[in-house]
Amino acid sequence: MRECDVLVIGGGPGGLAAACAAKREGADSVIVLERDKRAGGILNQCIHNGFGLIRYNLELTGPEYAVRAILEAEQAGAQILCSRHVSSIEKAGDGYCVSAYTRDGIERFRTRAIVLATGCRERTRGNISIPGSRPAGVFTAGVAQNLVNVRNVMVGRRVVILGSGDIGLIMARRLTYEGAKVLAIAEIMPQPTGLARNVSQCVQEFGIPLYVRTTVSRIIGKKRLEAVELSDLDDSGKVIPGTARRIDCDTLVLSVGLIPENEVAQTVGVKLLPNNAVDTDRHLQTNVSGVFSCGNSRHVMDLADYVSEQGEMAGRNAVHLLRGEAMESWDEEKSNCMKKGFPEEGTVTCTICPNGCQVRFDEKTGETTGNRCLRGKRFAVQERTAPTRTLTTTVRTTVGEDRLIPVRTADKIARDSIPALIEQLRDVVVNEPKAIGDTVYSTELDGKEVRVIATA
Ligand SMILES: Cc1cc2nc3c(=O)[nH]c(=O)nc-3n(C[C@H](O)[C@H](O)[C@H](O)COP(=O)(O)OP(=O)(O)OC[C@H]3O[C@@H](n4cnc5c(N)ncnc54)[C@H](O)[C@@H]3O)c2cc1C
Ligand code: SF4
Repeated sequence: MRECDVLVIGGGPGGLAAACAAKREGADSVIVLERDKRAGGILNQCIHNGFGLIRYNLELTGPEYAVRAILEAEQAGAQILCSRHVSSIEKAGDGYCVSAYTRDGIERFRTRAIVLATGCRERTRGNISIPGSRPAGVFTAGVAQNLVNVRNVMVGRRVVILGSGDIGLIMARRLTYEGAKVLAIAEIMPQPTGLARNVSQCVQEFGIPLYVRTTVSRIIGKKRLEAVELSDLDDSGKVIPGTARRIDCDTLVLSVGLIPENEVAQTVGVKLLPNNAVDTDRHLQTNVSGVFSCGNSRHVMDLADYVSEQGEMAGRNAVHLLRGEAMESWDEEKSNCMKKGFPEEGTVTCTICPNGCQVRFDEKTGETTGNRCLRGKRFAVQERTAPTRTLTTTVRTTVGEDRLIPVRTADKIARDSIPALIEQLRDVVVNEPKAIGDTVYSTELDGKEVRVIATA
């Protein structure tokens, strides 16, 4: 049996930050157990950019953010053990015994404190009960994301998305880049539930219709999905009779919410809230002394940056508790403060920081309003005159176990050049190992050199 001071369950941004902070705070030994074959959590499949704006003051992709978090934890001295699926936690003396499945059988760990950072899972069709048949072609957004971004499997060609949370919006753009036609996004609420920046850059920019107060009222198809029925909803959320219209499609992507994943927590008697989130005190400690919780398993959060910050506090508090010191308190107001829903008509949503200011640009005077800082003015002027984007996508590889390498343009490029670059990247195959930041492809677009680099 291995022993440690602090054991972290889950190697996503929350768990990695907790481990790093516990070690920096002075814990002798800290172990992270991760069930996947690599640490990084959900970030490994989130190949788009938008991560790290607060924590690193940089716009990173998910894999780039994950690599930083892994390196920080390792450099602090935490040990990250992958392919360990934790099945149970038991009280043992003044600490805990944690059991994990490995390829070679069950491994046991003895620890004095635990940080739970097991993330969340998606709500499925079963959770929301859509009437109709049960054909193939219905995916949750995270599964579709994993298939497209990691496994090189295209989910379909004519797509309807139910739910306008960030994962659904990001998948609308991703599937469009991959050649699918996203026919509609249906949202039951009166406003999109994702960030305004994603509504603007992933949906409106591609002319994808987003219908609010609308739901998928029927799924139609025998073997494969053939169509869905969309219906309008009244103010109480009930389908308005006579409003159903059929949309022929082969794929339905469900982005209908996330549920904190806490089966392991329950094995040691951790108290959960009705939404399956962990009920902690302000120090992030659960009702079980010495067991802390952070990140999406505690409460689903919008930004990885806040997850990391919370993970750090959970890790430090675990050490404070072991030493009998006062613990720090988490400010609940901190996260989920960004602008959500439709961007205001005629404005530009500034994407430089998570505030997402809605900036109005007067073309006659060149003045802007709505921006909280000068960077927003520069951004709005650029958007209105010559918009640029970082393209994030994947290219095929023959190296290692993975079929795809996530990549991005080294610098922002003219928005209008993106379709041409995507076309060129379809034929790129990487046949030699690449490190993060290495060039995988370069070309000239509109007279400018464009470099595409690996992000994982
Ligand atoms: C599609 C999508 C897009 C997003 N886009 C953005 C964005 O643009 N910007 C941004 O800042 N944030 C974004 N987020 C949010 C952010 O990525 C998450 O909030 C963050 O990754 C959550 O971190 P976590 O550590 O709590 O959970 P996770 O990243 O889910 O990590 C949990 C880890 O625990 C492991 N685990 C679970 N159970 C066990 C067990 N029993 N034993 C061992 N290991 C276990 C899992 O394998 C996983 O690796 C996005 C999220 C999603 C899903
Ligand atoms: S204007 Fe400034 S504060 Fe507002 S989103 Fe842009 S960078 Fe952030």
